[in-house]
Amino acid sequence: MVIVMKANAKENQIMSIKKKLEELGFMVHVSKGENQCVLGLVGDTTTINENQIEAIECVDKVMRVQAPYKRGNRLFHPDDSIIKVDELTIGGKELAIIAGPCAVESEEQLIHIAKDVKRAGANFLRGGAYKPRTSPYSFQGMEEEGLKILLEAKKITGLPIVTEVMSVELVDKICQYADVLQIGARNMQNFDLLKEVGRCNKTVLLKRGMSATIEELLMSAEYIMSEGNEKVVLCERGIRTFETFTRNTLDLSAIPVLKKLSHLPVIVDPSHAAGKWWLIEPLAKAAIAVGADGLEIEVHYDPANALSDGPQSLKPKKFEALMDSIRVIAKTQNKIV
Ligand code: PEP
Ligand code: MN
Repeated sequence: MVIVMKANAKENQIMSIKKKLEELGFMVHVSKGENQCVLGLVGDTTTINENQIEAIECVDKVMRVQAPYKRGNRLFHPDDSIIKVDELTIGGKELAIIAGPCAVESEEQLIHIAKDVKRAGANFLRGGAYKPRTSPYSFQGMEEEGLKILLEAKKITGLPIVTEVMSVELVDKICQYADVLQIGARNMQNFDLLKEVGRCNKTVLLKRGMSATIEELLMSAEYIMSEGNEKVVLCERGIRTFETFTRNTLDLSAIPVLKKLSHLPVIVDPSHAAGKWWLIEPLAKAAIAVGADGLEIEVHYDPANALSDGPQSLKPKKFEALMDSIRVIAKTQNKIV
């Protein structure tokens, strides 16, 4: 971190700031130019609030040299993180393919879809039991009944379960059923929830908020990791832009950017990005081609009657075809499916 003092800053003011920072454990290099003085801080500045320093009258501006996140930063962890879930890994050579319906609707529906996606090559089963719906009048999910059905589907197919947790109060309950806790886009900055999942030892799938910057996503991962849970998987699921044809705009560049800045695995959800089933395959292929570690895809055998997100759900046959084309792209990335 660099602190630029105002041109009229007095020697005693500069020394008083230097002393305060040294008392906090930093090494402070003072460089005096002809008109201005600059303080260079060496040490872990993640806990420093630069706005507070900038509020000191004799300070002109404060500049961060390093990113404000540490645990998720590739600088301090050059190798990719490989996260173990049951017998599987996320972030290694094998792509994580998370597939299933948006919402669990019945035992018959989920088990039918679970068997289909497993046959096609998915290695995780998704399904929402608690649903974050835009309208309070829409289907809100089967709640604990839905969690029981997810567990039943796991017993039958062996696929580990990915399901969303929407509130702090539900974390313990959902941990009893799920293998991966999904934090939805709408909750990416629910800091209490992030801290709570940071205190459990389940893998967390953290989805990017619809108006969140890449740095905000990494800071949310930092919230989880700073509580002790390092098993975080990032998910790009499209962001709000001026374009209205698609539900969101898939930010493809976020994938190589996140992989450069962070060691955490990055997966892509083309269903919520596109909002249209026929866009899922091309976006999924593109995501793998730019280095994604996996995909999260909504699958339903009867999209027209799905209780949630039918228009962006692939029928099992189409999902099978997608898996075939993903296998081809995966090879070019030295990945397997
Ligand atoms: C979902 O995965 O069903 C979901 C609601 O996703 P998002 O939080 O990305 O909108
Ligand atoms: Mn959905």
